[in-house]
Order: sequence, then structure tokens, then C-alpha cells
Amino acid sequence: MIRVGVIGACGRMGLMVCRALADSEDFALVAAVDRSKVGQNVGQMIGNPELDVPVSDELERLLEAKAVVAIDFTHPDVVMDDVRWCISHAVHVVVGTTGITQEELQEIEKLLSDEAHESNVIVAPNFALGAVLMQRFSALAARYLPAVEIIELHHDQKADAPSGTAIATVSRIRQERGEDWQGPGGESLQGARGGEVDGIRIHSVRLPGLVAHHEVIFGGQGQTLTIRHDSTDRSSFMPGVLMAARAVMTRPGLTVGLEPLLDLPPLP
Ligand code: NAD
Repeated sequence: MIRVGVIGACGRMGLMVCRALADSEDFALVAAVDRSKVGQNVGQMIGNPELDVPVSDELERLLEAKAVVAIDFTHPDVVMDDVRWCISHAVHVVVGTTGITQEELQEIEKLLSDEAHESNVIVAPNFALGAVLMQRFSALAARYLPAVEIIELHHDQKADAPSGTAIATVSRIRQERGEDWQGPGGESLQGARGGEVDGIRIHSVRLPGLVAHHEVIFGGQGQTLTIRHDSTDRSSFMPGVLMAARAVMTRPGLTVGLEPLLDLPPLP
């Protein structure tokens, strides 16, 4: 059994991850860290009262419980502190929290390259298999249709904008796109044309009722191509989270995104 602790265990994603771990055959949920509901039993919260895992607000709980892997679904403001702590205490970490910058990824890589550090890290802004495929199909389409904008739509509690998935999709498109395309920039209302990431416009919608949705719209002469992914339920992320938690122990260093873990054929 792989001993796992969840950081942000009482959040929307954290509780679902706790449930997925408890229901799995190869994981043992041994620690739950959160700044809320401290002392309460996470087993009770996920409808499994026999599972006795009290919530702690101390990361040290991961060591006491001999967790080998930590899974972080917290907040962009605190995730880097958690990652630094896990690396310095030789705990492998799977990071689902979004909002990590390129500079922070470089910092993680640097920390991991230090020989004294023995843990591995997987950072994935989106654990839904369909979202990984959306990025891949977008990369292919970008070779033929260079004009593109992205609309991402999320629930109204999301802390960051644009979404990590939208930024990762831009990066994937930029790897394949041969020529730059600049749409018109003129705005009579500031922000009406969205924000620009590496030359690609991203439009962020936040509304109650949404979960996580991305639309990559390519434009060409007399045609458009829309590649859309919808997570209609947070359970869509669980197979990817568990896959990453299995893989993190044997993938040295930093892995970004779920795509390297999938046995996808190379793009033609
Ligand atoms: P949430 O607000 O419901 O949960 C966050 C939890 O973290 C809360 O219980 C909060 O108390 C806890 N927390 C915050 N700061 C803490 C700290 N310093 N120490 C301990 N616990 C702390 O948020 P959510 O909807 O579960 O999302 C969490 C993160 O996951 C967000 O960044 C979100 O964008 C991201 N997310 C990623 C994916 C993915 O596939 N990678 C999918 C959905 C959401």
C-alpha cells in the first residue's frame, strides 16, 4: 500500500481525493492536513467513519504518519511553501493546486537537482484525461490554423485567472506554431479582449454552476475549429490524480503535466 497524505484535505478537491484514495486498492490515506476542520475525522467527512484520519494543520503530520507521497490541493498563495517543505523532508509530492509560475517551476527543479533532496514532484494544472487530449489536439491544430484564442470558464470560487490549464495550452500551442498571429487589440472597454499570454488571448469567465471548461477556438479562412473540454464533475480529475500519485515515486525530478505519464503516440 502506498502511504499518502493530502494537503488541503477538507477542500472541494481534497475531500474528493481523500475519498478516491480510501476507495482504492493500492493507497492508504494516512494523513490529512488542512487549516480548517482541525481535529475532525476526515473518514467521517467522506462517509467512511471507520477510517480514523484526524485533520491536522501541521505538515509534520505527514512525517508522523510515514506518508511517502503528499497530494496538494490548497491555494496558489501557500502551495510553494508546501512543496518546499515536502522536498526538504523527502516526501514525494503531486501538486494539483494551480497558479504556479514558470519561475516557481524553475525553483522546484533547482531544489530537486540538489543531491541532498530525494523526492520527486509532479505538477499538473489539470488531471482530467480529456483536458490533456484537448491540449494535444490543440497543438496539432496549431500547425495548420495559427489564429487562436482561448475561453476558460470556471466556478466562482476559483482563486486564480487565467486557469493553469489555459496557460499550459498556450505553451503547448506555442511549441507547435510556426508563425505568430496577432488579433486586433483595440478595446473601447478595458479587458474586453481578454488577457494575453505569450501572444495568445485568454478570456476568463467565473460563474456559479460551472466546474472547469476550456474552449480553444482556431480561426482560418472561412472556417473555425473549436476544441472544447468540460469537466462537469470533480470526479473527472481523480483517475489522473491517482495515476500521478503512483508515478511520482519512480519519476525522478520534476514532471509538468499529465501528458508525460500517458502512453500517447508522438504527434505526426
Ligand atoms: P478549496 O478552497 O475548496 O480547498 C482548498 C483547501 O485548502 C481548503 O480546505 C483550505 O482550508 C485549505 N488550505 C488553504 N491554505 C492552507 C494552508 N496554508 N494549510 C493547509 N490547508 C490550507 O479549493 P479547491 O476547489 O479544492 O481547489 C484547490 C486548488 O486545486 C485550486 O488551486 C484549484 O485551482 C486547483 N484545482 C486543480 C485541478 C487539477 O486538475 N489540477 C482541478 C481542480 C482544482
